[in-house]
Formats: sequence, structure tokens, C-alpha cells
Amino acid sequence: MKILVIEDEPKAAQYLCQGLAESGYTVEAALDGTDGLHAAINGNHDLVILDVMLPGIDGFAVLTALRTSKQTPVLMLTARGKTDDKLRGFDLGADDYLVKPFQFPELLARVRALLKRGQPPATEPVMHVADLELDPVRHRATREGRRIDLTAKEFALLTLLAQRTGQVLSRTQIASLVWDIHFDSDSNVVEVAMRRLRAKVDDPFPRKLIHTVRGVGYVLEHRPPA
Ligand code: CA
Repeated sequence: MKILVIEDEPKAAQYLCQGLAESGYTVEAALDGTDGLHAAINGNHDLVILDVMLPGIDGFAVLTALRTSKQTPVLMLTARGKTDDKLRGFDLGADDYLVKPFQFPELLARVRALLKRGQPPATEPVMHVADLELDPVRHRATREGRRIDLTAKEFALLTLLAQRTGQVLSRTQIASLVWDIHFDSDSNVVEVAMRRLRAKVDDPFPRKLIHTVRGVGYVLEHRPPA
């Protein structure tokens, strides 16, 4: 898997390239928008990590020009608090967006998700947990064969839990993997979303699959009756 990093700050670029290389990716770096665009158009990358603030042509201009000829997945990086940037990036065809400063594991999770999305659908198998069936390709969830209507975020949340069946996920992990931004620790967005998800996935059925692990987080698993 080949990744192109377009980032003008040498320290940030080095941090990204080193971390990605250590995670097994082949990494190429460009230190400004012009070189970056040239590399992205002529190269054969599986993903482009693109900083918004670049000397010469900025990240938005790079993205706009790239999209006229290529659909390489693009993960944009920008400064905290610039919500407009985020919307503009998505409008121009960015696939995901990460606010600086970020933790490397979060970046890696986004990178993996984007690379996975680019692969043929056949590589995403249907998941089963007890009578719950989750089809990521068709975006379909059923229990006991009955269709469960989920919003995109609820589906993403359930998919995350199902991918890590039996593994407890903290609220912070869930927030960073399912939502685009970090939430303040006092935010109850995960609790609220989880309550809604449970109302659809668990409440109508006798067997409960989503469990709260007090003080830790949540786990999806089938617990046989004691
Ligand atoms: Ca920059």
C-alpha cells in the first residue's frame, strides 16, 4: 500500500512518514502543493494525506486539481476549530478529515478505514454476532432476519462494535473512530448514540448484545444465559 504525504512542516512530515513506514506502508513525501499535486497525479498511490495549509497552492487547490483526473482517496489535515475547512474539503471531494494535533493511532485508524473502503467489496464479509447480521457492503443490519433501520452513524457504531466483538471499547476510542472530531471528555455524545442504537438493536429482542462495562466502555457480544 502506497501513501503520499503532502505536508510542508518538516517535523510533521517526518512524524507522519516515519509512523506510516513503521506501520508497513510505503510512503512518499512532498513538501509543497505543486510537488504534491504532481506526485499525486503521476504516481500510483492508494491514499493521499493532504495538509490544507501549504505554501504556493494550498490543500484545497491540490484537491480540486487532483479530482479532475483521479479519485485517489484523500485524507485532509487541518488546524483545530476550522469547521468551514472541513465542509469545504468534503465538498471538493475529500474522503476524510483530521484535525491537528491528532494522535497517531487515530490517523492510522482513518488510514486503514480509507484503504479498506477502496478495496473491492468482496473483502468486507458479512458479520454475525448471535442472531445479528451486519452487511457493510449493502449497509444492512438484521436481527432474527428482521431489518433494523439505522442511521449512517449508528451503522458505523454497530460495525465498529461488531468488528471487535468481545473487546471492550472506551468512549474515547468510540468517539474518535466513529465521529470526525475529538469530543470533550464531558460530552455524552457516545452515551446518547449508544442509547439510540440499543433502542433499535437490543430493546425489541430478548437477547441483549450490547453491554456496558462500568467505568470502561462498551462491548458487543453474545452472553449465553447463566
Ligand atoms: Ca502546513
